[in-house]
Amino acid sequence: MATDEVALLQGMLLAVKSPAGRPYIQFRVDGEFGPGTKAALAAFQRDRGIDEGLPQPDGPTWRALRGALPEAYRGLRVLPESKILYFEATADEAARSVAQIEVYSEFEPSFQRQVIEMVRRMYEEYGIVLWITYTGWRRGFGDQLGFGRRNTMAGPGESTHHYGLACDLGFRDLRWMDATGMIWRDGDWLERMSRALGPASWRLWKARDRIAFSLGLYKIAWEGVHLQALEDERISNAQSLVRLLEKTGTMKWETRPVNRRAYYWSDLGRGEGMYPVGTAQEIWTGRAPVPAGVGDAAALRRALRAEFEKAEQNWRLWEPVSGN
Ligand SMILES: [Zn+2]
Repeated sequence: MATDEVALLQGMLLAVKSPAGRPYIQFRVDGEFGPGTKAALAAFQRDRGIDEGLPQPDGPTWRALRGALPEAYRGLRVLPESKILYFEATADEAARSVAQIEVYSEFEPSFQRQVIEMVRRMYEEYGIVLWITYTGWRRGFGDQLGFGRRNTMAGPGESTHHYGLACDLGFRDLRWMDATGMIWRDGDWLERMSRALGPASWRLWKARDRIAFSLGLYKIAWEGVHLQALEDERISNAQSLVRLLEKTGTMKWETRPVNRRAYYWSDLGRGEGMYPVGTAQEIWTGRAPVPAGVGDAAALRRALRAEFEKAEQNWRLWEPVSGN
């Protein structure tokens, strides 16, 4: 028997009680078909009058096990090629997640269709419902500040989340069973499972990502939950922001990386010369290092921030620019 099948068998024998009221298995799920598992399987088959030996797919042993599962353990499944045991969600939950995305008007339409298809396929293949996280929808420029550099390198205006082209799609409410038979309900980032299983929990993200890639969605290296419509290496978030600023505002803009952060230059609306004005975060928070002798610093900072606000209001005009 394959590891995943054994893990599921063990999980069921842990949940189902013998006529004496005890679980058939009293050790941890390990995915190995050892003497303890063999004995437990034989005992279950004997108690149920099943003469099958190794359980065959859809054979009497699996059917009896499923039928005997206590209410809380119904829908127990195993992630293929793993020992991850989890519980199937309902079609109703899947429909609710899809409906939530369908009524949302701030995703770019073809991206929205991809995300809906992503949720549908994940449910079809794995019985798992993915949900957009509470902060995973379109974001305003200012929302980006709250995430800090720990979670994202992007400043205000520099994330595809601002333009309806990204979402964070997680595993909220996934119910799963640990090796001792305890049932957990997890969060968007599989916080509990990753603490309990370590790197083994990445298999669930990989299952999600395989479907995402097949639908033409992309992820970024340092954020597991994030999916976007465009390949990160092919676009420059800063150059794209510059184009949007020039489309929607009155100043000329340029950007170059300084110490691996996007840094901006602006003509400050004067039509001559370019002045360094800092990072997107500095501009947005009114701390742009405006040059001396060009005018009232506070007024210049307000004018720069106003350009960003105009860009934010007209976020639907954003288009990708390649480069770095
Ligand atoms: Zn994200």
